Amino acid sequence: MSESSKLASIREKVRNGERLTSEDGIALFLEPDLLAIGQLANEVCEKRHGDRTYFNRNMRIEVTNVCVASCLFCSFAKLEEHMPGAHTMKLEEAWRELEMRMNDPGGPPTEIHIVNGLHPGLPFSYYEELLRGFKRIDPNVHLKCFTAVEIHFFAQHYGMTYVEVLEKLRAAGLESLPGGGAEIFDEGVRSKISHDKATAAEYLEVHRVAHRMGMRTNATMLYGHIETFAHRVDHLLRLRALQDETKGLQAFIPLAFHPDGNGMKNLPAPTAVDDLRTLAVSRLLLDNVDHIKAYWVSLTPDVAQIALRMGADDIDGTIVHETIYKAAGTRSPGALGYDELVRLIREAGRIPVERDTLYNVVRELPRAAVPEAALKPRDRERARPRALPVVQGDVRVKEVPS
Ligand code: SF4
Repeated sequence: MSESSKLASIREKVRNGERLTSEDGIALFLEPDLLAIGQLANEVCEKRHGDRTYFNRNMRIEVTNVCVASCLFCSFAKLEEHMPGAHTMKLEEAWRELEMRMNDPGGPPTEIHIVNGLHPGLPFSYYEELLRGFKRIDPNVHLKCFTAVEIHFFAQHYGMTYVEVLEKLRAAGLESLPGGGAEIFDEGVRSKISHDKATAAEYLEVHRVAHRMGMRTNATMLYGHIETFAHRVDHLLRLRALQDETKGLQAFIPLAFHPDGNGMKNLPAPTAVDDLRTLAVSRLLLDNVDHIKAYWVSLTPDVAQIALRMGADDIDGTIVHETIYKAAGTRSPGALGYDELVRLIREAGRIPVERDTLYNVVRELPRAAVPEAALKPRDRERARPRALPVVQGDVRVKEVPS
């Protein structure tokens, strides 16, 4: 079967609601017609979400980059506290980050996303108190903190089961888990790029346990280094199997490898075509995961914007202080303003929908009547969204005129 007839048969399967196989996934990665794959992924995405693209008002905090592991792709971690560039925040410093955002125009962030190194010298109470402090400042802020790799480390290091770790952190305010730490599940690749942290089975088990406890989680895949397309497909299908079992994954985020300052700096970063293809194939293979996210920090805002027409329904959020990709040489800015996110979404022809972490709608903004580039410069300012009213608690504002 030629590649184009293979694509035709995959298109038919997708339109008939049939599940794609591992062989189909590899064929999609090998298919040269990126636009055809993107169009099919877009079709599937629009069937689920129409013209809506989600984003949120979030902030990232990495409280420590001290880490006992030595992942080859990591430009962020420092082995010991005294090394140049190592940092561990005092609790007050971390809380201050939120305090400084409480009077943002339009309201404080609705989510704090925390990811850290595996620090061997902090007491478990540090993490519990960290969460409690954020909730004292803003009881409404959603705490999406600690990857499955961190939860596994806590269990090992402090002598608890996954359930015990999650129960204690939940009692302190934890509400969901981010998706980081998945890397590539294939055991051969994983043993080369991240041999001394949670295995694939342990990563998946932490998510399984969290789902059984009623928590939602996200999942990721780090692509574009030494893995093959078959490894990517295997990774996606392991996530699909977990989702069949638990239905607890709410979003999948493909993460592009960036080479600066890490143990794989001899490798090139993936190209935009690889980024877009990976995102589109993820949408097609993960037929049971609602949200596929074009994480603009990893992709750059430009590529993320194109991805909104190739299977992604989410572009992540305002972020503010991202240090992991920054250390790995991303060309993305550290933060995007609310208005900038809205503009990216509108120019892609989508309706911007501000969401909370669990995809409840906070605000739905009107779509652009015409692309901004078609407006005369003096009219552009008027077409931008005005300062938005403060959101109190879980008040939902249906539509905000721009
Ligand atoms: S990727 Fe995470 S676990 Fe690996 S070295 Fe970096 S901080 Fe540590």
